Amino acid sequence: MNERILISGASIAGLTLAHWLTRYGFRPTVVERAPRPRGGGNGVDVRDNAVEVAERMGIMPRVRALATDVHGMKFVDAADRPVARVDIRDPRSVEIMRGDLVALLGEAADAEIVSGDSIRELEQDDDGVRVTFEHAPARTFDLVVGADGMHSHVRRLAFGPEEEFVQHKDHYFAFADADAALGEDRWVTMFNTPGRMAGIYRSGNHAQAKAYFIFRSAPLDYDHRDVAEHKRLVSRVFGGETSWRTRELLDSALADPDFYFDALGQVHMDSWSKGRVVLVGDAAWCASPASGAGAELALVGAYRLAGELAAAGGDHRIAFARYDAVHRPLVEKKQQIGPNVRLMVPRTEGGRCVRDALVRLPLMKAVGAVERRVQGRNARPLPEYAPAW
Ligand SMILES: Cc1cc2nc3c(=O)[nH]c(=O)nc-3n(C[C@H](O)[C@H](O)[C@H](O)COP(=O)(O)OP(=O)(O)OC[C@H]3O[C@@H](n4cnc5c(N)ncnc54)[C@H](O)[C@@H]3O)c2cc1C
Repeated sequence: MNERILISGASIAGLTLAHWLTRYGFRPTVVERAPRPRGGGNGVDVRDNAVEVAERMGIMPRVRALATDVHGMKFVDAADRPVARVDIRDPRSVEIMRGDLVALLGEAADAEIVSGDSIRELEQDDDGVRVTFEHAPARTFDLVVGADGMHSHVRRLAFGPEEEFVQHKDHYFAFADADAALGEDRWVTMFNTPGRMAGIYRSGNHAQAKAYFIFRSAPLDYDHRDVAEHKRLVSRVFGGETSWRTRELLDSALADPDFYFDALGQVHMDSWSKGRVVLVGDAAWCASPASGAGAELALVGAYRLAGELAAAGGDHRIAFARYDAVHRPLVEKKQQIGPNVRLMVPRTEGGRCVRDALVRLPLMKAVGAVERRVQGRNARPLPEYAPAW
């Protein structure tokens, strides 16, 4: 049996996987580059099958207790007058701050967690994977899992350069702490100028609010781990903006050390495994924040990967193929993100007027409600996996 499993990345996918592997009798070790769990980010949705996973892990009551209780999005003009509101409440889904979910999963993951380190090199043969680290001494594992996000280091080492798998979706975004007084309680407030959006997210259970910024751009050349450079980039785009509350939001965001910036990108791969190395979460299939499905796919995918390994008695050749086959249809559905970003960040002033008019139409609300109901009906219960030993 492949018992010793190294997981790179202690976020939603990696911690969920660690929990299930331990429950099935494997011995997972998690290595996380950050010195402490990364708590940044906005609200993320725990929806449909992801609710089942969280229930089976025993964390769902706490997820519900921490729900953000955000009612919807409102678009405002430069004088902060609402021009359109969209109710986004969905009975199939619970929104929770990403940092709260990571903290809950960290408590549920009964595994060895090594913080402040990273895999340096991987070398696999028929018997295992020899891993060297940036700091810790080298070790051999039976399997290695890359749960290290869109810019996965494991993917780079085992599958090839990022450019082969990550598709740029024409936008960049940033999330960071904001002064709560700048937004309305339980609403996401958004202000557009052509090709740009500045906004503030205020949940019902957090004193702190989140600023966010999105802008259209062709691919930029920058270091995706250099936060100071990220701040300079966002300042360059929004720093000259004097309308609405953009200036104040930018000031509070720039003061946040957990400032989070990335490209709106998607990961597309023909296979998520190579020999004894496999990927899960954004590393394998990032659908982008515009999909609203990152947490859902990570929770469900990690549950399925651990379950298939258990059901195959630890045989990775059978388990990895089954995991790919059963999870890929959901990923492909969620990667079709439709016009969301174009609606949130219209390219022109005319486009913004059309968007505001569309959002106000009762027909649009009805279409949204029907779509949610249909999607909910299609979610079949997840299997209860039984270890084959
Ligand atoms: C700080 C942060 C804020 C985010 N905010 C949002 C948000 O507001 N909205 C949204 O939709 N999505 C957000 N995301 C992405 C979201 O978490 C994912 O889309 C989704 O939940 C899937 O999670 P994941 O575990 O696959 O990847 P991620 O959540 O991206 O986690 C990857 C983990 O791997 C770690 N890691 C990276 N490289 C290495 C390495 N070499 N060695 C070891 N560990 C490594 C990272 O530090 C991180 O903890 C955020 C991600 C992060 C890291």
